[in-house]
Amino acid sequence: MLEAKLVSQSHPNHRSLIRLSEQVAIGGNGIVIIGGPCTVESQEQMEQIASRLASVPVQALRGGVYKPRTSPYSFQGHGVDGLKILAQVRQRYGMPVVTEVMSIAQIEPVAAYTDMLQVGSRNMQNFELLKALGEVNKPILLKRGLSATIEEFVMAAEYILAHGNPNVVLCERGIRSFDPYTRNVLDLGAVVALRQLTHLPVIVDPSHAAGKRELVPDLARAAIACGADGLIIECHPEPEKSVSDARQALSLEDMVALVESVEPITTAVGRTLSRNNLQPITGSNLPQILAA
Ligand code: PEP
Ligand code: MN
Repeated sequence: MLEAKLVSQSHPNHRSLIRLSEQVAIGGNGIVIIGGPCTVESQEQMEQIASRLASVPVQALRGGVYKPRTSPYSFQGHGVDGLKILAQVRQRYGMPVVTEVMSIAQIEPVAAYTDMLQVGSRNMQNFELLKALGEVNKPILLKRGLSATIEEFVMAAEYILAHGNPNVVLCERGIRSFDPYTRNVLDLGAVVALRQLTHLPVIVDPSHAAGKRELVPDLARAAIACGADGLIIECHPEPEKSVSDARQALSLEDMVALVESVEPITTAVGRTLSRNNLQPITGSNLPQILAA
């Protein structure tokens, strides 16, 4: 493994806690679930999602406004108008929002309107973007590249820390294989390894890994069982009508059922799931919180 001085796990009890808002932080004892559509389509769509999920508890919202589409003729996202929609639901429901940034020019508007900036798989090794995100005062959600090794993933995170931003959450979202049945292969071994190699929180995106909605809930539970610090899941009020990634989108009712079904797994692994995700400091998690 190349030298990853800043992201490496130097002490077994040291785990970073990455704060999205006053109430929500990733990497503590609590599990964080981020839910929302692939693409922000309308104010009404985001309102429906936030109002249904806020109490479930889904602690944060997702939704793309700058979309990395395979075809240049597909919808590319609402841009700044989409950011304004995210800002409104964020304010109304008190939920932090995360959205993707694809270029250095997009950093400023995205940082102004949202709580966390996502680097998508296709940009995991866009080193100039990673360096620029090192200078941002907001947490970064770094998704694993489509065919990135664990070492390449760790070193991409190292770029952001080396350039000054310690607030990085890693996201395993599946890697390419020969088998098209699942869109990607969810690498839960990487989740375990990344939590051993680094002090950064690791969340799992079963939606982009599976590509099929009926596979998502079981993969979500498996992710929590193997130690993931959270989940990011695509859902939509009318999944079949999603402008992107429709096949993997859960209905809001299925999303609620998924969250409820994850809860006993969180308990089984000694974690918690709550609306307010800043866990009280107890004897067992005090060292991690102090070290964070
Ligand atoms: C997304 O989160 O909508 C997305 C495009 O994800 P990924 O970069 O993992 O493909
Ligand atoms: Mn998507």
